[in-house]
Amino acid sequence: MTPRTEVGHTVWAEADKHEGGWMEDAQAEVPQAARDALGTYFGYDSFRPGQAPLVSAILSGRDALGVMPTGAGKSICYQVPALTLPGLTLVISPLVSLMGDQTRSLLAAGAHPSYLNSTLTPAQQNTVLRRAAAGWYQIMYVAPERLADPRFLEFAQSLAGPGGIGIPLVAVDEAHCVSQWGQDFRPSYLQIADFVASLPVRPVLAAFTATATARVRDDIVTMLGLRDPATVVTGFDRPNLYFGVEELADRQKDLRILAYIREHRDESGIIYCSTRKAVDELSDLLARELLVVGPAVGRYHAGMSPEARNRSQEAFVDDRVPVMVATNAFGMGIDKPNVRYVIHHNVPESIEAYYQEAGRAGRDGDPASCLLLWNGNDFRVRRYLIDQTEDGQLDPGQRDQARANRYRLLDQMQGYCETTGCLREYVLRYFGDEAAGEVARPTAGREGCGNCSNCLTHFESEDVTREALAILRLVRETGGRFGKSLVADALHGARTEKVRQWKLDEAEGYGALEDVPVGWIKDVAGQLVGRGYLAQSQGRYPTLALGPRAMEALEDPEAFSFALKRRRSQERAGERGRRAAELIREEAGSGERVGRVGDDADLFERLRTLRMDLAQERNWAPYMVCSDKTLRDLCRRRPRTMDELLAVQGIGERKAEQFGQALLDAIADFESSQEGGH
Ligand code: ADP
Ligand code: ZN
Repeated sequence: MTPRTEVGHTVWAEADKHEGGWMEDAQAEVPQAARDALGTYFGYDSFRPGQAPLVSAILSGRDALGVMPTGAGKSICYQVPALTLPGLTLVISPLVSLMGDQTRSLLAAGAHPSYLNSTLTPAQQNTVLRRAAAGWYQIMYVAPERLADPRFLEFAQSLAGPGGIGIPLVAVDEAHCVSQWGQDFRPSYLQIADFVASLPVRPVLAAFTATATARVRDDIVTMLGLRDPATVVTGFDRPNLYFGVEELADRQKDLRILAYIREHRDESGIIYCSTRKAVDELSDLLARELLVVGPAVGRYHAGMSPEARNRSQEAFVDDRVPVMVATNAFGMGIDKPNVRYVIHHNVPESIEAYYQEAGRAGRDGDPASCLLLWNGNDFRVRRYLIDQTEDGQLDPGQRDQARANRYRLLDQMQGYCETTGCLREYVLRYFGDEAAGEVARPTAGREGCGNCSNCLTHFESEDVTREALAILRLVRETGGRFGKSLVADALHGARTEKVRQWKLDEAEGYGALEDVPVGWIKDVAGQLVGRGYLAQSQGRYPTLALGPRAMEALEDPEAFSFALKRRRSQERAGERGRRAAELIREEAGSGERVGRVGDDADLFERLRTLRMDLAQERNWAPYMVCSDKTLRDLCRRRPRTMDELLAVQGIGERKAEQFGQALLDAIADFESSQEGGH
């Protein structure tokens, strides 16, 4: 059967036979051992969309390809098989820091994981290899570079050969790194296919990525040598993420970020800046302003020493420094589930880059916010950077193409900033996700997706036909040689040096819109571009020319009308339902209600402190003890016995063993303290 790849809903190549009800069927088809592993190790009672068919395929001996957005739960897809199958599963992962974290998490869950990388001394590496050969471990994380090491090759071959414990599965994380079309190409990924082919018994090969484009997906299949893989592509919507866009002057951006952090003092967030210098300046400012009451703010960029970067990252993952100001170098290795917001101080180079970075918010599925702050400077800087890009290894033709490509990506990004439509829909459409039309369809009680700044903004439509015609006429009169700002200045009748220099003050249209603010004229011009009446050239100083629809308007102005949406009011977007107490209340419908004393929110805070203590004792990150969602489920259910505790979402047997008693005691203590007070 040929694998079928579709975007927008989950497809499993062999699931055709139960089209329609695939989800339940797929759950039921997962072998019992795998469902047990999901409960015992991770404390989850069901697989998420896409996980079940991938796990089933792997366990039945078939190659697999999982394409899911960040936070969808790709790790479970190979961890559950690894903990179910006999032998040692190898996980190839590009990031050394991630390996340590994943290993610690799996240990916390009661599994037997290991990793092999350059942070271990040669003696430690020997120990790991010896123990692995003796069957100590279920899963081993390795960097792709390791596959070329003759010692490792020998180890893997003997493991997979006669008398060895066997390598049932090789899982490739961040599989898009194999593609030269992807943003994160790593030549060492090209060795994976040879490595797998060199093993005496071919293991199942499974690849995972969050990159959506078909081109990259095809590369993964060919370059890794996947054989007839069961392919699952889940939709790219992240319903728990709020998306917001705000146009702000440079100085306002800093103040907005400061205010946001102050309002979300106990939450963890990432602030992305485009340059090292901006990271340093903003983190200095924030550290100064937040010195007394916190939260602590860290920084991360490639100009820092590797040690300093590591310290920074660890402090962030462990919640000691909850806010990180960083360049996009702070990236793939961040597997922290409770990042509550990602703010972009500048515009990234593409929608792909933006969605990947913003997508680091809310991996735990709880509400989180993604805010993009922008202004015209961002695009000027980006265009300048595109022009400066060297592309030394390309010939002139390829170079032009690469440049045009970058401009195209940036234009899409600009469209995102300027659209008055649903932001979620915009992104999904960009990725070719069929669900794009669905997410923004208004339903009872909400506008559009109900969770982006445009859908939460009340726009008023304003007739700007006069402005639009004046702009079109001036552009025609001056031959399309000028940029948006100069056109707007001329129409407004500004007496600037540039206006005089280009003799725009002698144009017929000069001052035609004297009564209209320059910013508003620019907005109208922007919308004229968006709707095809004007065309904007590419390059560092884009100029406005007449677009394909200009003549419609200019030849029959009586019949032409043009309206612009103007923002009126905006809800305090993304703030709704954010506090733990509100989430507990919202979730109350989904679990059984228990008679209880005291305020859930107070109990939540107590349990949060306990979690911090338990984590520190073990040198873990708090999320390795349990997630916020688990804490809320504890507040709601108030378990009194171990059995009741095991019913809590996210508490597996091993976790119950390790700190179940501490949790039960804390809840009992809390309840009796509350009763005593009354
Ligand atoms: P990805 O690698 O796709 O970005 P992760 O593997 O980090 O996502 O998973 C994201 C979060 O979802 C983690 O906190 C994980 O524990 C949780 N998760 C994964 N699968 C399930 C499930 N079946 N039920 C509940 N939570 C899950
Ligand atoms: Zn929306």
